[in-house]
Amino acid sequence: MWINGEESDSIGGERMWTVSPAHDKQVASYPLADAADVDRAVRAAREAFDQGPWPSMMGRRRSRALEQVADLIQKNIDSLARLETLESGKPISQAVEEMKAAVDLWRYAATLARHVHGDSYNSLGENKLGFVLREPVGVVAMITPWNFPLLIVSQKLPFALAAGCTAVIKPSELTPGTTLRLAELTTEAGIPPGVVNVVNGYGSPVGSHLASHSEINFMSFTGSTAVGRSVAAAAGQNLKGVSLELGGKNPNIVFADADMDAAVDAAVFGVYFNMGECCNSGSRLLVESGVADEFTRRIVEKARTIPVGDPLDPATKVGAIINEEQLSRIKGYIRSGMQCEARLLLGGGVMPTEHGRFVEPTIFDRVTAEMPIAREEIFGPVLSVLTFDTRAEAIALANDTCYGLSAGVWTRDVETAFEISQRVRAGTIWINCFMDGYPELPFGGYHDSGLGRELGRFSLDEFTELKTIQLHLGSRGTPWV
Ligand code: NDP
Repeated sequence: MWINGEESDSIGGERMWTVSPAHDKQVASYPLADAADVDRAVRAAREAFDQGPWPSMMGRRRSRALEQVADLIQKNIDSLARLETLESGKPISQAVEEMKAAVDLWRYAATLARHVHGDSYNSLGENKLGFVLREPVGVVAMITPWNFPLLIVSQKLPFALAAGCTAVIKPSELTPGTTLRLAELTTEAGIPPGVVNVVNGYGSPVGSHLASHSEINFMSFTGSTAVGRSVAAAAGQNLKGVSLELGGKNPNIVFADADMDAAVDAAVFGVYFNMGECCNSGSRLLVESGVADEFTRRIVEKARTIPVGDPLDPATKVGAIINEEQLSRIKGYIRSGMQCEARLLLGGGVMPTEHGRFVEPTIFDRVTAEMPIAREEIFGPVLSVLTFDTRAEAIALANDTCYGLSAGVWTRDVETAFEISQRVRAGTIWINCFMDGYPELPFGGYHDSGLGRELGRFSLDEFTELKTIQLHLGSRGTPWV
C-alpha cells in the first residue's frame, strides 16, 4: 500500500495475489488492508490537509507538480501498460493508449490548478464587498473499479489535487498495480507525503469503511449502480458529498441516411472495446428498419474479423474477461437472449483456450425492449440489435432505460441529430462519433448512471466548497437598538 509517502504493509500482515485473467498466472502480491489500515491512511490524508502545505500552496506549484506526474507516467508508459494488461486482461495496444490518455488528463488538470477561483460582488451597497471563495473540500476518498484502473483514477485524482484536496484511494482488489505505482510517482514528483494514499482491499471492509468514515469530506466512486447506492447511503450518514459514475445501457442510434461505413465500424468498436467491460459500451444498437438487415449483416461480417486472444499480442483487439464471476454473468445473459427468442447471429460461446476466459464477439438481433439483454448492463462483448421506424420511436426506445450515461446518433440530417441530442436523457451525446472523450468535457450520467460530473473545469466544483466572506468598511450605520 502507499501511506504517508511510502510503501506500507497492512497492520494484520495479510496479503493477496492478483491473477492474470488471460494467463491464469499470479501477477503480484499486495498487502491486504482492513479497517485499521484505512484509519491510518485517512489520518495521513487528514494531517496533510489540515497542516498543509498542499491545500494552501500556490496554484503554480501545484500545477508544476501535476505536470511532473504527467511526465513520469509518460516515461513509464510501457511498464504501466504491461502491468495493466496483466492484471485486467485488456489488450496491450489499448492499455498503451489509456496510459497516454492518463498523461493528458494530468496535464489538463495541471492547467486547472491555476484557475481555482471564486467570485466577488461590489454591488451590495456602499462600503460593502462580498467575496465568494472556492476552498478545497478536504480529504477525498476514491473507490475505483477494475475495468480502467489507471484511467479512472486519473479522472479523479489530478482534479482533486488541482483543487488542493488530499486523497485516500481504494482500487479494485483485482487490479491495484497501476494505482499503487501512480501513488509512488506522485511522491517522486514532489507531492508531499500524505497527500496521496492507497489502501488495497475488498469492498467490505475497506470500501465500506471509507464510505462511512467521519474524517472523509467527499466520496468519489466509480462502479456498479448497486454498490454506488450503498456508498451514497453510507456517505449520507455523515452528510459528506458524493459523486457516482455508475453503469449504462447506452443506445447507439443509426438512421438510414447515416455514413454506413463509419457507423458500422463505430458500432463494432462501441460494443467490443475493452471486451464490453465498459460503462460507456454501446450495447444497445437501434437501427432504422429500412436498413437494419443490411446494417446488421455488415456488423456481423466485421465482428467476425476481430482478433480475440492473448492481450499481450499487439494485434489483439479483444482480450480476456476479468474473472469467473463476470464470465458466468455474461454467459447468463447469452442464455437469456436465447430463451427470450432473440436471434443469435454471431458468437455466443466461450473460446476453447487452455488458459484464461475469452468470450466470442456476440450479436443478437430481433431483440425487443423488454428483454433483459436490452435492459440490463451485461459488461461483456454482447450486442443487442433493436429496430425503429420513426425518430419519435427511436427517442422512446433510447429513453426506455433506468440508465442515462451516454448515447450515439448516426445521421447526415442536422434536424435529426439535434432532436436526438435534445431529447435523449443522457450525460453525453455523440453525433457521428462514439466513445470519444476529452479532459475538457464533463462526463457523468443521468438517472441510475450516477450523480455529479467528472472532468472539465466543472470537476473543480465537486472538489471545492464555497465560502462567502462579507466585508463591511466604515461605521455600522443605523444601530439595531
Ligand atoms: P463494484 O461496484 O462491485 O466495485 C467497484 C468498486 O467498489 C471496487 O473497488 C469494489 O471493491 C468497491 N466496493 C464493493 N463493495 C463496496 C461497498 N460495499 N462499499 C464500498 N466500496 C465497495 O463493481 P465490480 O468491480 O464488482 O463489477 C461488477 C459490475 O459493476 C460489473 O459487472 C458492471 O456491471 C459494473 N461496473 C460498472 C463500472 C462503471 O464504470 N460504471 C465499472 C466496473 C463495474 P472490490 O473490487 O473489492 O469489490
